[in-house]
Parts: sequence; structure tokens; C-alpha cells
Amino acid sequence: MLAPTFPSQSLSSSPPSHTATTEQIKKDRHLSRSKLYTANRKSAATFESVHEIRRQRFIRENAGKGQSDTDRRNKEARTRKLRHKIYHQKLSSSWRRPGGKSNIQFFGTFKSFNSRIKKHRRGANSRLACELNAPENDKVIPTNEFRSSKTCPTCHSPAKQQKYRRGNNLVSANGSLRSTNKSCPDFHRNTYNRDDVGAFNISVIGFSKALSSNNQPIPPFCRSMMQTYSVSPSLEKYMT
Ligand SMILES: [Zn+2]
Repeated sequence: MLAPTFPSQSLSSSPPSHTATTEQIKKDRHLSRSKLYTANRKSAATFESVHEIRRQRFIRENAGKGQSDTDRRNKEARTRKLRHKIYHQKLSSSWRRPGGKSNIQFFGTFKSFNSRIKKHRRGANSRLACELNAPENDKVIPTNEFRSSKTCPTCHSPAKQQKYRRGNNLVSANGSLRSTNKSCPDFHRNTYNRDDVGAFNISVIGFSKALSSNNQPIPPFCRSMMQTYSVSPSLEKYMT
């Protein structure tokens, strides 16, 4: 449907409704999408699975013949190592804000000891942090992730995982989050992507910590319930 033509004066006050809807949705979304960094993408870039398939085929076809593929495997290992490094260099470079003189990244310090996260493979976090930190004026700041994926990004009240019905049971959806506070300004939207919320909250934790006088984040992300928040005296003059 074509939008009717209006004199320029009325157009400026009321833009065509069909564009306003999509624009409004984009504007409403105050969380940016979290960056995608998965084990599958990483192994595709480093040829990990291709090399493994080739190796299994060699074992199958040459069983009992006394042949060795050590040379080829050494070469492939070197290829994987180089491609692994280049993949992380390019990835961290693509995440930089274009044109920025200096980028600060708050990096979550969550570590799972001796266990895989629900059967998922782990990423090369230290390599990624190292590459993000590599440009001269950039800085990676390790940040505590406490409560970052359990707190509503708008009102900072506790959030819960969204539930859905499977047969007669209600099952939690791990990737989604909803605010429990009915007076939350964003309650009407009430489902967030948990990774987006985690990334946003980590930046809030890191930034509030950097501004504070006692190196503590704002109270919703504090371990101690008694903690109060105060801005560093050296930064108060910048507040209006
Ligand atoms: Zn909320």
C-alpha cells in the first residue's frame, strides 16, 4: 500500500506508519545482540573436524598394514594452530567499534572447572581475550559475572527463566529470561535472550565498578546485600 503524499510540514511530524513500526521495534530494543562465538564455528575455521575425519579414514583403510601418517598429522596440527590464531585475530578485529581510537572490553571471568557446560565444548577464551587486548590502545578488563544472567537489564530486579509446556510438564527454557517485577518499564516485552542480558549486565557491572569509589559494582550485582554505591570523588565533577 502506498503512503499518501502530504505537504512536507505534516510529513515531518508524522512519518508513514509502515516504516514507523519496524523503526519503533529497532528503537525499542535497547540490548544489542551478543556476538556469536561457538565451538562449531571455531572448528570449521581451523579444519578440526575435517582433519579428524581424514585421520579416522586412514586408520580404517590402513589397519594392519604398518603404514604411518605421522608426517601428515604433524603438518595438519601446525595448520590448525596457525588457523586458530588467525581466526581469533580476525574475530576480535571484527568486534572492534570502527573508527574508535580506544576500545574497552569487559570480559566475563566465569570458569567451569573440569566440567563441560551441559555437554557443550568450551571455547578458547584466553586466546580470545589475548587477541582483544592486542591493539595498542585497547583494554580487556576481567569482570565478575555475579548475577549478570539472573537480573533484569531494565529494572535490576531478579529475573527468571521463561517456562514452556512440554506434554503435562512445565520446562525452563535455558536461553530465555523474563522479569518478575510487574512494575518494570519493560514488563510488556517480558522475554529476553539470556546471552544478550548477560553481555549487557557485564558491561553495567564493569562500568559501574570503574566509576565507583570503592571498586564495587551497583548493589544488584554485589555479593554483599549491605553494600552501598558511591561515585568516585575524582569523577563527581563530570556528573551533571
Ligand atoms: Zn525489569
